[in-house]
Amino acid sequence: MNEIILQGIPAAPGIAFGSAFILDKQEFIIAPRDIFENEVPIEIARFEEALIKTRDEIISIQKKISLEMGGQHAQLFDAHLLVLEDRTLVEEVVKRVKSEQLSAEYIFSNVLKKYVKIFSTLEDEYLRERVGDINDVGRRVLKNLVEETKLHELDNIVEELIIISHDLSPSDTASMYNKNIIAFATDIGGRTSHSAIMAKTLGIPAVVGLKDATLKINNQDYLIVDGRKGLVIICPTEETQKKYHTAQDRINRFRDQYHEIKDLPAQTVDGHEVRILANLELPEEIPSILEQGANGIGLYRTEYFYMNRVDLPSEEEQFEAYKNVAQAMAPRIVTIRSLDLGGDKFISSLQIPRDMYPHLGWRAIRFCLARPDIFKTQLRAVLRASAFGNLRLMYPMITGLKDYREANVILDEVKVELREKNISFDEKMPIGMMIEVPSAALTADLLAKETDFFSIGTNDLIQYCLAVERGNEQTANLYEPGHPSVLRLIKGTIDAAHNENITVGLCGEMANEPILTLILLGFGLDDFSMSPFSILQIKKLIRSINYADAEKLANEALKLGTGQEVEDLCREKLLELAPQILSQDKED
Ligand code: PEP
Ligand code: MG
Repeated sequence: MNEIILQGIPAAPGIAFGSAFILDKQEFIIAPRDIFENEVPIEIARFEEALIKTRDEIISIQKKISLEMGGQHAQLFDAHLLVLEDRTLVEEVVKRVKSEQLSAEYIFSNVLKKYVKIFSTLEDEYLRERVGDINDVGRRVLKNLVEETKLHELDNIVEELIIISHDLSPSDTASMYNKNIIAFATDIGGRTSHSAIMAKTLGIPAVVGLKDATLKINNQDYLIVDGRKGLVIICPTEETQKKYHTAQDRINRFRDQYHEIKDLPAQTVDGHEVRILANLELPEEIPSILEQGANGIGLYRTEYFYMNRVDLPSEEEQFEAYKNVAQAMAPRIVTIRSLDLGGDKFISSLQIPRDMYPHLGWRAIRFCLARPDIFKTQLRAVLRASAFGNLRLMYPMITGLKDYREANVILDEVKVELREKNISFDEKMPIGMMIEVPSAALTADLLAKETDFFSIGTNDLIQYCLAVERGNEQTANLYEPGHPSVLRLIKGTIDAAHNENITVGLCGEMANEPILTLILLGFGLDDFSMSPFSILQIKKLIRSINYADAEKLANEALKLGTGQEVEDLCREKLLELAPQILSQDKED
């Protein structure tokens, strides 16, 4: 097969070589299994038995429903029976099992996928809606063909694989931790979608927004994933493989060099010091955060604690988790962000209705204010853990003083309850807020008077400021961190914080981007919070330049008219002031 190069959006840096594994949420994941020629009749018989068993199951469900709810409801299952009786589908499976000598379940899942794709694109709404029936029946047949335990789930992956998927939910990616997944690539998503953030957490290369990778890549295709440039190369030639191995060696050499500065301060050549903090999604990351020499945790995304489980975490469980993180990081600061659910982060234990525009809807602090029971449980756990380390608390998606004050009223109620019960907590635990909605950035002067610190969440701030959904690959080119409006909001927020003598950090993906570091530094940002894997590179950059140069560049950037002009200027300056930072990504 010829080499094919797919271009997507870079989501997490690094290079990976390995076999593709297509993860399709629509159906069970069936890995291909070769069969011998003499096994073909056995496979076909197994398939036919599975069809009969599925038919019997559907008829008995139909009878039960007819008795309990009336015949009208039972008729819904007629469509399922029709799928089972579709001779074209059945014959195609039989024919392909014979010709390709692969297991019946694999061929069946493949044929099913083809049907789903065809039906999904039909004009006729009635026929399009049959996709659900096809999927339901397909699942039943597959369950009858394969022992359920053998159905390939993400958790059961035993070999090193590259996951290819249409999309990955935050909980899918969270369950990839410590698994044999060496990279992933998705059809949809932008560079700050939560799957991209999780790829950085996992320390694996990732490419998102490839549009049709799941159509072009087949299970077990040999791939190279280049997370720096957003490329996925299918069946690379030997020459390409050699080139990539050389590039990987170079990246490894840079990583080793960076390690020498792990315990040194993030200080410019002319003595301006900032803090470099880590973003934490899963407590398992603590060793690597310490290993990278982080000055603390600037964002603990606690919502991941609520994912991949059927119930809500209790106060005790949360307390233990927060306490462990606080103790492991002490005396360094740990910034716990209260629950930021909604948007693209959902959990199964809560039936949160899906909003039409989820990012503008019922999420984060809005959800917590409406569900004080859930909010208070978390606040109690955080306050109790504050007695064991250097904790700070911040609220996500604050839009102005009103919601900030409302959140603090609930916090004060919890404090009163704890005092009454003589439960100790840090009375001086700083309370801050994320600045990630333009309304908050524009009223930062008012907010700064009433809060202890700011943390700018550029992932959301950019999407709300530019009206560009952060996870949408179609508009990814419009998602510009260097857009003049975004720079003004950030600069205004930093100045407002400093006028009131409070610290201001930035914990969006922008803090990971070397070419934008110069501007943020020049604006006077105090804390840079990022994925642990970026810490040493950004520290190296800060240690290589003069603050005076960064300030000058930041002022020049503020006068430019477009995001592209800003990016070009920053790239040019970075090449001039710290060429070694970009050289690891130079053309291979
Ligand atoms: C942000 O919006 O920049 C941020 C850090 O929060 P999240 O990515 O979790 O929304
Ligand atoms: Mg956010």
